[in-house]
Amino acid sequence: AAKQRGKGNWVRYHDGMEQPVLAHAQIGGELRRALDAGEFRVHYQPLVELATGRIIGVEPLVRWQHPDRGLVPPGEFIPAAEGTGLIVPLGRFVLRESCRQAAAWLAEFGPDCMQKLGPNVSVRQLHDPDFVADVRAALADTGLPHDRLVLELTESAVLRGPQVSRTLRELHEMGVRLALDDFGTGESSLSLLRSFPASIIKLDKSFVDGIELDEMGTPEAEARQAVARAVIQLAGALGLDTVAEGIENQEQADRLRSLGYTLGQGYHLARPMPAEAMTRLLAGRVELAAAA
Ligand code: C2E
Ligand code: MG
Ligand code: MG
Ligand code: MG
Repeated sequence: AAKQRGKGNWVRYHDGMEQPVLAHAQIGGELRRALDAGEFRVHYQPLVELATGRIIGVEPLVRWQHPDRGLVPPGEFIPAAEGTGLIVPLGRFVLRESCRQAAAWLAEFGPDCMQKLGPNVSVRQLHDPDFVADVRAALADTGLPHDRLVLELTESAVLRGPQVSRTLRELHEMGVRLALDDFGTGESSLSLLRSFPASIIKLDKSFVDGIELDEMGTPEAEARQAVARAVIQLAGALGLDTVAEGIENQEQADRLRSLGYTLGQGYHLARPMPAEAMTRLLAGRVELAAAA
């Protein structure tokens, strides 16, 4: 079916999906306007200790509160933000806003609930010569202790030569930690771990999906479980923490725990939510899914 031009910079597809596919310059202007207008919001998804259901940190996830379109998920604008370079100021906003919020939660609810603040960092930001200074300033201005920040990077972002290596080394020397996001989906996960100063591996959701179905003995389920087991053994051998992403039911949580995973994230535990809802959760007025 033919594509029709939608409102503004958007294209409506025959299946009802809408994606920003126009010229980068155009969508770049729209994103710039949205950033200046304060339309981006940071939501937070808890990182949870599987054995207890306790919150030990959060991942900030950006959303676009569009005046006509409502809350737009990052998958629909992060690629364009990366393509146009607007990810640099947008990422700076998410970093500062989430550091400010995490420092406030730390002050109100104590250090245990905010051990890890894990904002996503794109490769474009790693190439920005001001990135290390931005991180330093965000921590200094908000008072968030350096060791609470765990920048989430993907394998492909990290495999980008000497400039990126230097940036990562400087962050590491500042006491900022690094997490490998979506682990297992990249091309050279294993060799990367030799040189990259990561402290956390996030097992990608694709290895969690169906992991509870091993009784059926399908080759796919067995393969997913084998990867999950190999990743936790590798992490243990290298002294890294692990987080299992995308846990959608109690059976997955139980299976991951029996494999040795102590930390998880997923809709079954808690969905991403606005800061105010997260504050209520941290205040203990809302219960998380009970640990098994
Ligand atoms: P990610 O860093 O791997 O974040 C996890 C994504 O999985 C989030 O999607 C989260 O809502 C979703 N998720 C968590 N638990 C479950 C679950 O149980 N089931 C399912 N189906 N999904 C779950 P979201 O918020 O749509 O973000 C998608 C991606 O966009 C992120 O993947 C990250 O790569 C990128 N992103 C989000 N915020 C930022 C940001 O501020 N900067 C950059 N550079 N990228 C961002
Ligand atoms: Mg992430
Ligand atoms: Mg992830
Ligand atoms: Mg993922």
